[in-house]
Amino acid sequence: MNNIALYTSDYCLNHHVPDGHPERTDRHKAVISAFDIIDPDKVLRHYAGFADGSDLILAHPQSYLDQLFSITTDIEGLMQIDGDSYLSSGSLNAILSSVGCVTQATRDIVEGKVKKAFCGIRPPGHHAEKETAMGFCFINNVVVAARTALQNKHINKVAIFDFDVHHGNGTQDIIWDDPDILYVSTHEMPLFPGTGMPNEKGRFDNIVNIPLLPGTAGADYMLIIDDLVIPALQAFNPDFLIFSAGFDAHINDALANVELESEDFGLLTSRVLEGVKHMTKGKTLSVLEGGYNLAGLEEGLICHIKSMQNDIISDGIDNLVE
Ligand SMILES: [Zn+2]
Repeated sequence: MNNIALYTSDYCLNHHVPDGHPERTDRHKAVISAFDIIDPDKVLRHYAGFADGSDLILAHPQSYLDQLFSITTDIEGLMQIDGDSYLSSGSLNAILSSVGCVTQATRDIVEGKVKKAFCGIRPPGHHAEKETAMGFCFINNVVVAARTALQNKHINKVAIFDFDVHHGNGTQDIIWDDPDILYVSTHEMPLFPGTGMPNEKGRFDNIVNIPLLPGTAGADYMLIIDDLVIPALQAFNPDFLIFSAGFDAHINDALANVELESEDFGLLTSRVLEGVKHMTKGKTLSVLEGGYNLAGLEEGLICHIKSMQNDIISDGIDNLVE
């Protein structure tokens, strides 16, 4: 068997947003559909439990968490947090189960129970700053994952590659002065949230921002992967790789103007995995961020997951789960 483990939770369907909002429950259904299409017999599914405070505090101060909990425990209908972020009565369970997925997946990878995992979760996380929820995001899932991995004595450096079309301002904010985490992001510019210039490098040169012009298509994007992304990852020499996996750079996604085809998500995945596997020994976690065209999300995700599966096959090592 050459499996990849999916970590998900039905609670992700309980986070509601207004009609017409792009970050909707149908996205979660598209993710589950993608895994059904890939191969229902070969994909291991884990329905993770809730994260607790010791997980969340890895990315956010207690004061922020207290405020989030107090808001989310007392909602009737929908509550608007900023211009485009909403909470509903089921949001807290969705958030805690999403973080539960990333912490369980991370621990299973670093303990050798699985080689690679994908967290099919919502709400997404990469816009959530230390003390500010924004851009559909409330808890920064990939930072929690990175710092969970670093709690293992065999993991000294974690690299995050964010291929969502938007800059992960939240991830950058939280790991700005963390020498053990590298953040590499490709993102369209100008575009929300407006951060992500190349001169934003982090205190330890641990941030690499690579803006993309509107209209960037697959061939040019792969040159950027080869010439900029992979060398940056290799220079950091990570023990563990995290994809901040957004599929809104898809040509059919209405939120941006980068023009990747579904197959390009598979290509970028293969190249990055090949580039760092001698460092990470294949240990890879992928966490869903954006992706708002349902067909683009599903098709791009299928290509991304198949490349992760092929990488496991080329290792000759099964993705084992006890
Ligand atoms: Zn995005």
